[in-house]
This record gives sequence, C-alpha cells and structure tokens, in this order.
Amino acid sequence: RAKQDGRGVFRFFEPALDAAARKRRQLELDLREALLTGQFRLNYQPIFDLAKDRIGCFESLLRWEHPTRGNVSPSEFIPVAEETGLIVAIGEWVMHEACRQAADWPSHVRVAVNVSPLQFRNSGFSNIIFQALTRSGLPANRLEIEITESVFLEGEDGVLQVLHQLRGMGVRIALDDFGTGYSSLSYLRSFPFDKIKIDKSFVDRVAQDESSAAIVLAIVDLAKALKMETTAEGVEDRDQLDQLRGQGCSSIQGYWFSRPVEGGAVLDLIAEPMSAAA
Ligand code: C2E
Ligand code: MG
Ligand code: MG
Ligand code: MG
Repeated sequence: RAKQDGRGVFRFFEPALDAAARKRRQLELDLREALLTGQFRLNYQPIFDLAKDRIGCFESLLRWEHPTRGNVSPSEFIPVAEETGLIVAIGEWVMHEACRQAADWPSHVRVAVNVSPLQFRNSGFSNIIFQALTRSGLPANRLEIEITESVFLEGEDGVLQVLHQLRGMGVRIALDDFGTGYSSLSYLRSFPFDKIKIDKSFVDRVAQDESSAAIVLAIVDLAKALKMETTAEGVEDRDQLDQLRGQGCSSIQGYWFSRPVEGGAVLDLIAEPMSAAA
C-alpha cells in the first residue's frame, strides 16, 4: 500500500516542503541582515540567590525584533542560526554585548551567557571570550557560560579541553536544562561544573507530584555532594519556591520573581528591596 501511494504522497507534500524550505531560507537571509543592521538585543532575567537573599546573576537572553514580523522567539531562530553556522557570529555579538553591559553592574552580580554547541566547538571560541572580557573589563569570575549536555554529543575530548581552558581563565561553567539529555550523570563525572540548572520540566510540578519533588531533591543533593550550585529554572509560583527552598536549592529563576527585562532595567531591579521571603 505504501508503495502504491508513494508517488501521490510525494506529489502531495512537495509544495508544503518547498514552502517550509523557502521560509527557512528567508529566515536565514533575515538573520544575516539582522546581524548587520543591529536588530538583536539582549534581555536579562535575574537569578535570585536564596542563601544571600539577593540577585546574584542575570541570564542574558537574545531578542530579535524582525522589521516586519515583530519579535521572533529564540526557540524559532536559534535552531536555524545553528544549522546555518550563523550562530558563531551571532554568539560572538552576544558575548561582547553581555560582557559590555555587565561591566556596569555591581561587582557581586554575574552575567550568564547561553552558548550553543556549534559555537562552543568552534576553534576561536575561547579567544572570543578572552576578547570580550578584555575589551569590556569584566572580571572573568563574573562571567558564567551555560552549555547543555548536547555539546558533548560529538565527543568529549575537545570539549573538556576548552572547558578546562575557560576554567583556567576564571570563567564559571553551568550545565543548562539538566535532566533532559541522554546521559547527564556521566558528564557530571567528566567535569566539575560550577552550577547545575534544573530543567523547568522538573520544576513545573515540584509542589504537586512526588516524583518531580524526588527528582529535584536528588539533583540538589547530588550537586551538593559534587560541590556544585543549583538553579531551579521556570519558577512561577510561591509553592514551587517554598518547596525548592526546603529542598536546599541554591537559587531560583522564573516569572514568579521576574520576567527577563531590558538592559536598562537591570540596575533598577538590583536596587529594588526584594526578598524571596516576601
Ligand atoms: P534557556 O537557556 O533554558 O533559557 C530559559 C528560558 O526560559 C528563556 O526563554 C526564559 O525566558 C524562559 N523562562 C524563564 N522563566 C520562565 C518561567 O517562569 N516560565 C516560563 N514559561 N518560561 C520561563 P527564551 O528567552 O525564549 O529562550 C529560549 C532558549 O533559547 C533558551 O533556553 C536558550 O536555550 C536559547 N537562547 C536564548 N538566548 C540565547 C543566546 O544568546 N545564545 C544561544 N545560543 N541560545 C540562546
Ligand atoms: Mg540558559
Ligand atoms: Mg535553561
Ligand atoms: Mg530551558
């Protein structure tokens, strides 16, 4: 039956595929244009340190205002930027911009920058970080890079070498979206990350279901034993916060505390008297 339908099915889907490919190609052209004409901005979302009861870090999140389509979500354009290799140039812009802005923040506040696998595996990567730190004057220990387990997929050796190099410079390394990859635990043994970011999917139901709570507690305890910090991602309500605090999570990030804000609003957020206990 499949054979018989083969041609018809093919003819039927071809125009749709074409349209998808055209849309992708257009997105690629638009991304190039965006980089050249400065359509990207960074927003920053605070990460609240529960022990110190203050903001300890802001995660930089890339924003793109397309001239005709309006805001395009990173989950739509980052994958295209990765497939086309454009992420290397975009990521370089992000690194410089994040360090430049963070250099104006109080010295106890760090900036966290997302780095995608292709960007990380690019041979010039540690040099780009070095340049961004030098040009901005941001001390290396105030920069944290966030990588996901997927950077390890094409082999660990080169990746570990770069991680050690960055660590040697004083840059902090966080493992993002922890728990969603394939063999998370082996990566924890390969490298002493500074921080584990517990994926939102576990945080979502941490106050409701026992299995989510058990998994979060296990990650927090594991991180403690490995002397790593933990950030819970996507905290949206008070019950989640109370649960996470009780479990000994080091910091929280999410809409409950603050949505990502524009660069100009960062200092105001830091100055606001805020407490997670409020
Ligand atoms: P991520 O690194 O895991 O970032 C967290 C995402 O969760 C952000 O989405 C943030 O806005 C969102 N978020 C934070 N708190 C909450 C919450 O309480 N509820 C909900 N529903 N969402 C929350 P965003 O900004 O859309 O970014 C999506 C992803 O795009 C990021 O996930 C990251 O993987 C990627 N990304 C963003 N900026 C960059 C960048 O500069 N470079 C690279 N390579 N990737 C980036
Ligand atoms: Mg992240
Ligand atoms: Mg994340
Ligand atoms: Mg995520």
